[in-house]
Amino acid sequence: MSSPVNETLIREVIQEVLGKLDHGKPRHANTTSVAPTTPQNVSYTPPSCGVASPKAGKHGVFDTAAQACEAAHEGFLQLQKKGIEARRQVERIVKTMCEDRANEWGKIELEESKIGRLDHKIGKLQIIGLVPGVDWIRPDGRSGDHGITLEEYTPFGVVGAITPSTHSIPTLAGNIVNIVAAGNAVVFNAHPSASRCAAMAVREFNKAIEHETGIQNLVSIIQEPTLDSFKELCAHEAVRLLCVTGGPGVVKAAMQTGKRAICAGPGNPPVLVDDTACLKRAAESIIQGAAFDNNLLCIGEKEVFALDNIASDLMGAMEKAGAIRLNPSQLDQLTKAAFTFTEGQGAGCPHPVVNKDLIGKDVSVLAKAAGLNVPDGTQLLFAETDASHPFVEEEQMMPFIPVVRVGSVEEGIAQSLRAEHQYKHTSIIHSHDVNHMTAMARALDTTLFIKNGPCMAGLGLGGEGYLSFSIATPTGEGVTNPKTFTRVRRCVMVDNLRIY
Ligand code: NAD
Repeated sequence: MSSPVNETLIREVIQEVLGKLDHGKPRHANTTSVAPTTPQNVSYTPPSCGVASPKAGKHGVFDTAAQACEAAHEGFLQLQKKGIEARRQVERIVKTMCEDRANEWGKIELEESKIGRLDHKIGKLQIIGLVPGVDWIRPDGRSGDHGITLEEYTPFGVVGAITPSTHSIPTLAGNIVNIVAAGNAVVFNAHPSASRCAAMAVREFNKAIEHETGIQNLVSIIQEPTLDSFKELCAHEAVRLLCVTGGPGVVKAAMQTGKRAICAGPGNPPVLVDDTACLKRAAESIIQGAAFDNNLLCIGEKEVFALDNIASDLMGAMEKAGAIRLNPSQLDQLTKAAFTFTEGQGAGCPHPVVNKDLIGKDVSVLAKAAGLNVPDGTQLLFAETDASHPFVEEEQMMPFIPVVRVGSVEEGIAQSLRAEHQYKHTSIIHSHDVNHMTAMARALDTTLFIKNGPCMAGLGLGGEGYLSFSIATPTGEGVTNPKTFTRVRRCVMVDNLRIY
């Protein structure tokens, strides 16, 4: 039975709360923003100046992490004040600008980073519209005998984000859409080899955001990122959450900061092809995925394990679909160019280290290193290797894929597991046998598991689902979306407001 309602007490409480709220008016007429009384910002008090000095940076681009974080915190408070519609405006601005400027920005990014392919750099910007935004944030409600409860997905405040060299502007833009849709501000420390294009995009986004919403520095960036600025960003009091996209080094560093980190880490996706697969479809899918942006995608096909009884036919189908097969001596030359071998680890075996000069380079460059010329427009090189080849072991990010024969599906799954290094990132199977699919899914335990399609089907491109350029693998959040960047808070009304 409900407890009796004390109307006088309720009236008093409501009066007190309304008094504190000031009916939405700024509490201090002389300040540009109001620090809301929500718990997420009580732990950080900006320095007495409040807003970073205008001289410190313009349109979100700052010299130091501290300046960027302070300005972003102020941007967060402004966003809170403007409400949900301002988040929608930011989402629209970022998506529209990426689409409209894809050609120009794709070119700028390629010129700076010098890795990948122009058509795909442009393509990655044209699809930012597929990243989920504000509409993703819906509260969960419960209604019952004891009243109603609302669980709301609320912002953290300022998110510190680290972006990779492989897709600098697309990751930055996708992160902004997700992070701001959730009501946060963001500060970026970009990869130094793609930081100028990132700063350019931040500047352009901010100009438009400032113009349309009046909010300044909601999206901030450190102009010249370094390891020190990364540390400063991670340690800054205003930064409540980290979103890291990159290889093993930065994932480890982020996890050691003591802050909660959403880590989109490295992958080395294996592809298993069995004797029930459609080999034409498998060959075309492998080429499409592994050739994309010269195999810079973390989800991109990196090595193929093919059942012995169909391996030759699969390689024939790959040739028919336009890939070029290297003979053993060409493979040997390419391997020598693509890797250096350091002193042994553990068992004393030399350890292959990928030659950065060949990462993300065009097929013609790889072919030259292998000692052959290939026709213009060739998408991918491949060669038959054994399972312990460096091209299988290492996340090599080049438009070349090794093909390894295996005697059984069990062996193929075991070799795939080994090659994936437990990154738990992405794996792919071409098969029509559900037992094989299930066995591989269970054994590899990857975040994305794609059946009978290219890797990008796992991100809503040719498969069902949505897009993000940050797939949180070691920390388990999966394909990041606005909810990834929220705190769940519960609002409970006892014994009332249930309307049925
Ligand atoms: P990278 O690890 O060299 O750099 C990524 C970012 O981390 C950069 O901003 C870099 O400056 C920073 N960084 C690197 N080492 C650091 C350290 N020790 N301390 C602090 N910061 C550090 O990676 P990259 O070459 O730019 O990108 C490719 C890697 O990123 C691949 O391993 C790829 O699989 C991975 N990646 C993963 C995803 C995903 O969604 N899971 C997406 C894109 C790329």
